[in-house]
Amino acid sequence: MGERLLVIGGDAAGMSAASQAKRLRRDALEVVVLERGPWTSYSACGIPYWVAGDVPDADALVARTPAQHRANGIDVRLRTEATGIDLDAGQVEVRDADSGRQRLGFDQLMIATGAVPVRPAVPGIDCRGIYGVQTLDDGCRLIDGLRGAPRRAVVVGAGYIGVEMAEALLRHGLEVTVIDQAGEPMSALDPDLGRLVREAMEKMGIGLVLSTPVEAFEADASGGVRAVAAGGATYESDVVVLGLGVQPETSLARAAGLPLGARGALRTEASMRVRGQAAVWAAGDCVESFDRVSGTWVHVPLGTHANKQGRVAGLNIGGRDAAFPGIVRTAISKVCDLEIARTGMGEADVQAAGLSYVTSTIETTTRAGYFPGTAPMTVKLLAESATGRLLGAQIVGREGSAKRIDTCAVALWSRLSVEQLMMCDLSYAPPFSSVWDPVQLAARAVVGKLVAGEPVAAEPVTGG
Ligand SMILES: Cc1cc2nc3c(=O)[nH]c(=O)nc-3n(C[C@H](O)[C@H](O)[C@H](O)COP(=O)(O)OP(=O)(O)OC[C@H]3O[C@@H](n4cnc5c(N)ncnc54)[C@H](O)[C@@H]3O)c2cc1C
Repeated sequence: MGERLLVIGGDAAGMSAASQAKRLRRDALEVVVLERGPWTSYSACGIPYWVAGDVPDADALVARTPAQHRANGIDVRLRTEATGIDLDAGQVEVRDADSGRQRLGFDQLMIATGAVPVRPAVPGIDCRGIYGVQTLDDGCRLIDGLRGAPRRAVVVGAGYIGVEMAEALLRHGLEVTVIDQAGEPMSALDPDLGRLVREAMEKMGIGLVLSTPVEAFEADASGGVRAVAAGGATYESDVVVLGLGVQPETSLARAAGLPLGARGALRTEASMRVRGQAAVWAAGDCVESFDRVSGTWVHVPLGTHANKQGRVAGLNIGGRDAAFPGIVRTAISKVCDLEIARTGMGEADVQAAGLSYVTSTIETTTRAGYFPGTAPMTVKLLAESATGRLLGAQIVGREGSAKRIDTCAVALWSRLSVEQLMMCDLSYAPPFSSVWDPVQLAARAVVGKLVAGEPVAAEPVTGG
């Protein structure tokens, strides 16, 4: 073999990079992957649905096993942790159960260490019965815990992981309470759309305790969690799930002196090469991404970015000339039959950027209003006053609502104005939408506000 590529982290970003680089350079590149867990290429995104019972087992969430990667010529080393990076020597310090500590040399280094879940620094956090949902091992532990027939669950955090886990626990027949310090669930939405999520969750029987930070976890005599203290009240609980979001796992990178942004994520070029480094690459939850709408660098830890960024890094390591073009912060989730989606800037982002903007929120339906199965959906758009450029979109509604956010994401990507979005040639037939697509209906409402004198129309004026 000629060069060695050493990859730290064997999930989405790391294995995408490893696979692309190996595919392109074959025997000219030795690819060694260090993974401290027992899995490769697994879908954390699927954990809520596995816990809920939609997915049969952990194996179904593994896209490619270590054996499959090895068959492709990649040297995957499981339960092997990188403990230090020596950039000058071109070596990584490694610890594994069998051979203890050793140093491995590299010609190219790929950092794909992902993120670590936020754990609240409050008394009782180490009680038995408090679960994370970051890894498949976490999922196994939680599913084991649910076999003990608990009755009450508290989910800490009402972001997308929190609401997905609330649904999963509800489907096990538990009494579920979600606690968050924000005023509404899904703080990636504006509060007016977050309110719609709250109202729907309350109707589903999920208790919400908002504007309330968790103060402590209380244990019973055996050390198992029995209650969560928050805002001066106590919420009895046999199971607690943490869904407080994640922080980039960049402790090794920081110690090696690599450049980090404000949120502690690695700074890279569009090639995914770490800034200022010739042979160090990074991708996934441990890096910042360029937000094409706001023009700023942000930390958005999502699998969709990790896969693409890892692929770009691998192509470049393999000798191609690839670039990761940035993101527009599109995200989608659901709680029971309520779908939730957002892209671009929210009102707080736009205000912080000092932009003048207009916004419009419309109530519409997922299919033609007369068609069987039609269901309500709400679409909110934001546009820049001076130019009409679309700045952001948010959708909350029943089945068939959320994926419409992708139309808005493409419009943002292409810097379309709401007028252009309104006139795009989108599909129509009654089983799929109203004659004006819901997104175009919302664009029409914004255009009406932007164009002086034109009335704001929230309903289609022609049939079809
Ligand atoms: C419950 C849940 C639901 C999600 N749902 C979605 C979704 O619906 N859509 C979406 O886009 N994203 C979703 N995500 C986010 C998505 O899972 C992550 O963005 C994605 O896994 C990031 O991939 P990654 O390779 O960067 O990092 P990770 O998946 O975190 O992988 C990093 C790997 O590096 C290993 N590692 C770290 N440090 C070391 C070290 N020092 N030595 C050796 N190994 C190390 C870790 O063990 C880990 O396997 C979800 C996440 C969770 C937890």
